[in-house]
Amino acid sequence: MVTTGDQSVLKRMNSVALIRLLKSETGLSRADLAKRSGLTKSTIGLLVQELIDDGWLREADITASGSLGRRPTPLQLDPTRLALLGAEIGVDYLNVVACNLQGQLIDSRMQRFEHRQRDATLEALAAMIAGLHRQLQRDGRRSLGIGIGIPGTIDVHGQRICALPNLAWDDLDLRQPLLAALARRKVRALPLVILNEANAGALSEYVFGASQHTEPLVYLSIGIGLGGGIVLDDQLYRGHDGAAGEFGHTILQLDGPLCSCGRHGCAEAFISQRAVSFGVDGPDRPILTIDELASRLRARDPAVVGAVERAGRYLGMLMQNVCNSIDPAVIVLGGPLCQLGEPLIATARASLAALAGRFDAHTTVVRECQFGLNAGAMGAAGAVLHAALRDKVALAD
Ligand SMILES: [Zn+2]
Repeated sequence: MVTTGDQSVLKRMNSVALIRLLKSETGLSRADLAKRSGLTKSTIGLLVQELIDDGWLREADITASGSLGRRPTPLQLDPTRLALLGAEIGVDYLNVVACNLQGQLIDSRMQRFEHRQRDATLEALAAMIAGLHRQLQRDGRRSLGIGIGIPGTIDVHGQRICALPNLAWDDLDLRQPLLAALARRKVRALPLVILNEANAGALSEYVFGASQHTEPLVYLSIGIGLGGGIVLDDQLYRGHDGAAGEFGHTILQLDGPLCSCGRHGCAEAFISQRAVSFGVDGPDRPILTIDELASRLRARDPAVVGAVERAGRYLGMLMQNVCNSIDPAVIVLGGPLCQLGEPLIATARASLAALAGRFDAHTTVVRECQFGLNAGAMGAAGAVLHAALRDKVALAD
């Protein structure tokens, strides 16, 4: 027996399937959707109309053609009416973005931020999110939800925050106080997805980037530290305890340099802003900013060139290990250190190739993340869309 509840679940599943088809191949017509999905033309007609009414889809302009007869109307994700909010709590900044269903940036706000205590950070973040949310409303867009990338680990269910080592807050509950801070600013009833910032970076590429729907995908987020994210089977691979993808703490050298985790020889102790800075100035000086490193690199400062190329060689070694353990279709390099560009990336590619074994058959593509410093926030926004397309966030109000 099919109940009313079953019918609505079925309808949602079918609607999601149509959105996914159009996301991976824009311009399909109703007839194409019927063929691909196996649903009847009349069902497709009803579902498409509802998705158009709800702001998900629109009919694309038909370009003039000389062929006879009526051409089927191409459909696409509507970039004008729904929006996704994404944010990243960085180690020393806050970043908030709004983007559309096609992953195009609508607006972003980034500010330097010293995280002293949790509540002050969440108030500032809520104010930034609320500002963008109001702007979206003024523009006639409806927000689907808010994603937040954080520099910490989350349990395997994606619910409980287990550690925020770089923020040093005692209280790890961010969800309730952030929802309360948003509600005080009249932002209510929006789904909130919280995820690790490197996992968010992985989703930025998988949901919106040049590597859409390409998997396995490994994302390496190289900043003060080194994080990672894995997309496998159309979802973030979290592992047994939620800690999968911590490539930064795989050990590359026994008794190597001290890592932030207390061990020696981790990848992060070779490949990070901290490691490069230590290589230039020694461990007792403040960490050099990316701007400082970039300008000294342009001036061919030998200490900086040496430290960056060393990081690149180890990055190639780490990618070789990733290829041999995960065999990904694509490795995406992101995070602030990648702004140093070719001296780091080209050295890493050369090192990856030089370290290939005789029997290696990996055809892994290495690519730089296209979202730059917005990767974490864009990926957090992408996580909201990804959740909706996995039927975990409502499609309509
Ligand atoms: Zn470590």
